[in-house]
Amino acid sequence: MYDVIIVGGGPAGATLARFLGRDMKVLVLDRRDLGKPYAGGFEKCCGGLLAPDAQKMLARFGLGLPRSVLAGPQLFTVRTIDMATRQQRFYPRDYINIDRERFDRWLVSLLPPEVETCWGARFRYLERDNRGVRVTFTVNGKERRETCRLAVGADGARSLVRRALAPRRQPQVYVAIQEWFAVPKAYPYYSAVFDPAVTDFYSWTIPKDDLLVVGSAIPAGADVLGRFQLLKDKLAQWGYVLDEPVRRHGTHLLRPAGLGQICLGSRDVVLIGEAAGWISPSSAEGLSYAFRSALALARALEKGTQGAAARYRRRCRGLSASILAKLGKSPAMYWPWARQLAMGSGLFSLQIEFEEVMS
Ligand SMILES: Cc1cc2nc3c(=O)[nH]c(=O)nc-3n(C[C@H](O)[C@H](O)[C@H](O)COP(=O)(O)OP(=O)(O)OC[C@H]3O[C@@H](n4cnc5c(N)ncnc54)[C@H](O)[C@@H]3O)c2cc1C
Repeated sequence: MYDVIIVGGGPAGATLARFLGRDMKVLVLDRRDLGKPYAGGFEKCCGGLLAPDAQKMLARFGLGLPRSVLAGPQLFTVRTIDMATRQQRFYPRDYINIDRERFDRWLVSLLPPEVETCWGARFRYLERDNRGVRVTFTVNGKERRETCRLAVGADGARSLVRRALAPRRQPQVYVAIQEWFAVPKAYPYYSAVFDPAVTDFYSWTIPKDDLLVVGSAIPAGADVLGRFQLLKDKLAQWGYVLDEPVRRHGTHLLRPAGLGQICLGSRDVVLIGEAAGWISPSSAEGLSYAFRSALALARALEKGTQGAAARYRRRCRGLSASILAKLGKSPAMYWPWARQLAMGSGLFSLQIEFEEVMS
């Protein structure tokens, strides 16, 4: 019998396991083989930019980033393009550019030895009985069942644990696509691209070592591939050379439109990270929310599993306020006239001296 079983060993799950590991009997499982260096196969679809909020959380956790998880180049500016009005601006930003697969493995490497892990394990379903919560998952094609006092869904945007809780309201679901290109020149900035013909959210480019990642979050149900092609065609007109595709991957991305769409779970099954809907509705920055929600649950568990769900809910007030603040910021980014006004004003933007390098 485990105290806690964590489904998902991504940033949220690994962080929670790190906090609980020495005091509780914990099992963390993930379908990825996070115990070994990444060698192809399923890859977490992510831009791999560590925003200042996420950096602050790592600082609070007493962590500095090892060189092995860094990707290049490090970026100090975001090129913002509004396709509809053909405006562009550069804004200063302090992101850390990381290799997401290596980052996740590094977080897992920090787990105390007391934490039991099960990699290559696919969560199937859970049931409640009088002993606790029974979690069923498959490893190497074989079904395995384990019981715990508290099951934690840290299984990301497509969370099966969340689905088992059948929440009444769900955040809006986007299909996020990322395509990697070999490019003839460096693009030393992160681009944020707004184009209502592609999406009501946004698209991006991120240089990652020798490659350029082009991505977009497109409402599920739309002609996703057609819109992504449109984005690439338009980026080509803005000077991006996208002739040599290397690989493409995609996943779901959640965009909460209100706090009612965040699902924290109930008595003995709780959700953290993106599984709960914790992600910025304005920028899709999710790593800081994964860390913060994991910390909130770890603190709630300091008094044991009994009553932890209620304590976790109370400890999430700051996170909820942060989601509300991001929702408040969204109109300036997503209402076309407000964006036009904001970009037109040039407020907070950077004057670029070597513009030919940037375009
Ligand atoms: C395209 C894209 C780009 C993004 N870019 C950024 C960015 O640059 N910066 C940023 O801060 N955020 C970014 N985000 C958001 C960020 O990736 C997520 O919010 C963050 O990863 C959430 O962490 P998590 O631990 O909650 O979930 P995840 O990182 O999704 O981890 C969930 C884990 O659960 C495992 N899992 C899922 N289902 C099962 C199952 N059935 N059985 C077993 N294991 C399972 C997965 O393998 C995974 O390891 C991006 C998201 C997308 C989609």
